[in-house]
Amino acid sequence: MRQRIAVYPGSFDPITNGHLDILMRGLELVDVVIVAVAHNIEKRALFSVEERKELIRESVNGNENVIVDSFEGLLVDYVKKVNARFVIRGLRAMSDFEYEFQMASMNRNLNKDMDTIFMMTSKDYFFISSRTIKEVAGFGGCVADFVPPIVEKRLKEKFSIK
Ligand code: ADP
Repeated sequence: MRQRIAVYPGSFDPITNGHLDILMRGLELVDVVIVAVAHNIEKRALFSVEERKELIRESVNGNENVIVDSFEGLLVDYVKKVNARFVIRGLRAMSDFEYEFQMASMNRNLNKDMDTIFMMTSKDYFFISSRTIKEVAGFGGCVADFVPPIVEKRLKEKFSIK
């Protein structure tokens, strides 16, 4: 039988426990999830694409149903290239909804064979975003409860915190 493949795209700068929760729940629905780091020139990133991929790889601990990759350009083109049928996105608050709704509708128009699966954030993670994690870590706050241990370590290194 053909494998059910989903792409989970995002900036992942860096990956958080909120992302991981969506990823693990996504794996219940499909056979393979490709976590695809977007090369986004507009957003100034803390970690390079290679660093972000490495952090994701270490965080998923060799799970063989997860593939870590990156892409440039249109998501629909990437989804076609890797033969995926689904895109997974996480939804936190209403503020996520409008943008996500627009993107999913646009993508569906560009590629009728693709569907976006939205997963609601868990109650423990609804307030976590890569941006707030970077802000807190940058001021020396503890983010251990919100990111995988390797990410906490790398954040401390980036911000030169002992
Ligand atoms: P982008 O830069 O495209 O928003 P992100 O790396 O911030 O990408 O997130 C990728 C996806 O993961 C998005 O669908 C986002 O809504 C979702 N996500 C991020 N943080 C959380 C969280 N704490 N709970 C649920 N979903 C999340």
